Formats: sequence, structure tokens, C-alpha cells
Amino acid sequence: MRVAIVGAGWAGLAAALGAARAGHGVTVFEAARTLGGRARALSVEGESGQPLTLDNGQHILIGAYAECLALMRSVGVDESTALLRMPLALPHADGTGLALPDAAPPWDALWGIARARGWSPGERWALLRTAAAWRLRGFRCAPEASVAQLCAHLPRRLQDEFIDPLCVSALNTPAGESSGQVFLRVLRDSLFSGRGGSNLLLPRADLGALFPEPAAQWLRAHGHAVRSGQRVAALRPVQGGWQVESGEGSEAFDAVLLATPAPEAARLVRGAAPLGDAAALQRWADGAEALRHTAIATVYAQRPGSAGTLLPCPMLALRATAGRPAQFVFDRARLGGPAGLLAFVVSAFEGERETLERQVLQQAAEELRLPGLQVLRTVVEKRATFACTPGLERPSMTVAPGLWACGDYVQGPYPATLEGAVLNGSAAARQLRDSSRITP
Ligand SMILES: Cc1cc2nc3c(=O)[nH]c(=O)nc-3n(C[C@H](O)[C@H](O)[C@H](O)COP(=O)(O)OP(=O)(O)OC[C@H]3O[C@@H](n4cnc5c(N)ncnc54)[C@H](O)[C@@H]3O)c2cc1C
Repeated sequence: MRVAIVGAGWAGLAAALGAARAGHGVTVFEAARTLGGRARALSVEGESGQPLTLDNGQHILIGAYAECLALMRSVGVDESTALLRMPLALPHADGTGLALPDAAPPWDALWGIARARGWSPGERWALLRTAAAWRLRGFRCAPEASVAQLCAHLPRRLQDEFIDPLCVSALNTPAGESSGQVFLRVLRDSLFSGRGGSNLLLPRADLGALFPEPAAQWLRAHGHAVRSGQRVAALRPVQGGWQVESGEGSEAFDAVLLATPAPEAARLVRGAAPLGDAAALQRWADGAEALRHTAIATVYAQRPGSAGTLLPCPMLALRATAGRPAQFVFDRARLGGPAGLLAFVVSAFEGERETLERQVLQQAAEELRLPGLQVLRTVVEKRATFACTPGLERPSMTVAPGLWACGDYVQGPYPATLEGAVLNGSAAARQLRDSSRITP
């Protein structure tokens, strides 16, 4: 079959690899010049005008991201070069916090909680009891429960210093509004999917080099097309397939996999409605449009003239409060980046850029004892992820005959993450393969 993939983020590229490996002829349309979507490389000017490659936003992978890791390997990425793997640790600048040892589950979590620094014996015991109860219940809870409700009985300090930052970094939604069920699923997969599942994997290469560029190279080397800078303007259902309209004209495909963000997928599907099954297509577009989104800000700040690293480890947890917005900070020099460059991450960001930058520099001066940092670049992704709320109805993968959606927002067990995106991309390619077996 001739298959069009719309969008070359991680979902689109996973779908393209799956479809290509199933023997279809693949054309990927990407509106931007750079591949990777929300997880892409970003070119900026350094402090003295030199070109620097950063990321559209600081990303973390975990050891349980099996599909991401398998796909990266399949296009020739060497995990040990591209990613710094370390046992899960959420240390604060003052040395307190959780650090798991390099051991098999559940011993790593048990040991880590039992030895967490800065928590009282009562607090550690409360978390151990809670983790054991979640495990006994198969990491399930009522679909309408929020993370805050799930953890309401935990001591305040554990909620503030452990649950809230973990929840907001995994689901990009504050604990009071986050789905308890999805949170438990992420915990289950990271803590109990096998040894190393909870490991943090920090990119040592820019996000483009981590997967999008090697994936595109693989596709091109195997005779498929990856066209960047080519936005799909409209989709039109036709007999036995779809017409894809872009700046280059109109082309016929047997099937289309939509891997754009939800609002753009809704626009394309709604545009096709008058020519197809109008009610079904409108319903799908309504569902995709109804998703609420939350922002993530990344503040890159540098100490001018610094020759080395600024933090004792690649990543520190911060004590975020109203006036101190960042939850985590990364030392990019420890991850193969320029000397003296830090990336401050503000998940579930609401506010405006100037205040954010001022507050982050203040937070760095007070909490990290690093005065004199200067902002190099602030990236605010307004629609970084969908808000992962309790009982959320996510749009289905199947949209219409020959049309599937596979961005990170479609139905699936994961919040908006790289793993959620590639799982959906690979699943859509499998649905395409199965449908092509049925359709003569
Ligand atoms: C700042 C930030 C930090 C994050 N941190 C993490 C993290 O630490 N860990 C993690 O796992 N996840 C993280 N995420 C989430 C993760 O980046 C996303 O879940 C994932 O990248 C989504 O991939 P996707 O392919 O579904 O969509 P996208 O990446 O949005 O890709 C969609 C693509 O479609 C293209 N497109 C749109 N319209 C058209 C059109 N009409 N024609 C052609 N192309 C089109 C876009 O240009 C884009 O390239 C973060 C996200 C952000 C923004």
C-alpha cells in the first residue's frame, strides 16, 4: 500500500518505521524544517554568538520506555552513547531526597525509600505502606480518583517533596487534577517492569540525534520519502483511499496515519467530514478538540565565563513553590553540552515569560547558591501535553476506513510522553498491517 504519515514527531516516525517494515511504501509529511515535533533539537546562539544545539525542551526517558529504546536501537542508535543511564534519584541541593540503589525490583524501591535522606522514619514507613498497598491492588484505583486523593493520607512533606514533583513531571498536570489511574500505571511500569525500569535515561545527544534524524535516515536509505517543510493542508476521502493535499499538490494514498498534535488532527479530520462519514468524523474531531493542554517551560541559563559543571550531579530536584517555579534543573555540561549551562524545567507552567525568568534566576541564587546566572533562552511550549485528568476520554486510534490517528494523545495507557507517542505510532502501523491483510 502507499501510506502517508502526517507529522514527523516521535509518533509519526515510529508509525513510519512500522509501516515500512511491514512492506508498505511510506511518505512522511512534516510541516517544520526540523524533525522530532515537540522533542526536537533547537539551534540557538551562544553567549558569544557561536551556534549551539539545545532541545525544544529538556526531556527524560526512563528504563521502562521499552518501545522507545527498541526503536532507537533498530535505527542504529547506541543507547550507552546517546543516553546517560542512572538509578532513579531525586536529590535536592541540600543532599536530602530519594535515591534508589542499582538493585532488582522491589528491593531497589524498598531500600531507596527506607534510606531516603531528610524523611522521618514515620514518613518512610507511610510511603512503604502506601507503595505496598498499591502493589497489592495491582496498581489500580477508581478511574475518577485524582493523584491528590490517592495520596491524601500521606504526610504533607511526602506530598510536597515527592508525590507532587513526580506527578507533575510524569503527567504535566498538578496532583489535584491528575489521573490517579495513569499515575499508578507509570509507577507500576517504572518500579516493577524489571531491573532498570526505574532508571533515569538522560539524553547526551540533542533530541534530533536521539531518534528522529536516524529514523529518517533509515527510512530514506530503504527507499521511503521523508519530506520536511511540507505541511498537509487537507485530507480528502476518495474511492479506496485518501487524497493528501499539501503545498506540492494533491497525491493519492491507500491509507493515512495522522501523527500531528490533537488540534491539527481535529482540523484535518473536520475538513474531510463533508466528503466522508460526516457524523463519525465530526464526532472524532470534537473529541480531539475537547482535550485541554498544559504548558512546559524550559529556562536555559548560563554562568558567563564558566569553564565546567555547576551542579554536583546531572539533575537536581528543586523545591517548587508559587514564587519558585522550577521543579528540576539539569546540568547540560554533565550531559555533553556547553560548560556552565543549566536547564530549569517548569512543568504545568502558567504565567508569563519575564516573571518566570526572574523567578528562576532568584530560585537558582537561593536554592542552588548560584547567583549571577544569565538567561540564554526560554522555551515555552504552550501545548506541551494534554492535561491528564481523571476519567479522561481520549480519541480513538481508528478515525475512518484507511485513516488512523497515532499522536501521544490517542487512547492508551500512558500520559503524553515519548513512550506514549511511539507506542501509539507502532500500534497504528500494526492496525494498518492487520487491515491490509483483511482488505484484498
Ligand atoms: C518541553 C517539553 C518537555 C517534555 N518532557 C518530556 C519528558 O521528559 N519525557 C517524555 O517522555 N515526554 C516529554 N514530553 C512529551 C513528549 O515530547 C511528547 O509526548 C511527544 O514528543 C509527542 O510526540 P508526537 O509525535 O505525538 O507529537 P509531536 O511531537 O507534536 O509531533 C507532531 C508533528 O506533526 C507536525 N505537523 C503538525 N501539523 C502538520 C501538518 N498539517 N502537516 C504536516 N506535519 C504537521 C508537527 O510539526 C510535529 O513535528 C515533553 C514535551 C515538551 C513540549
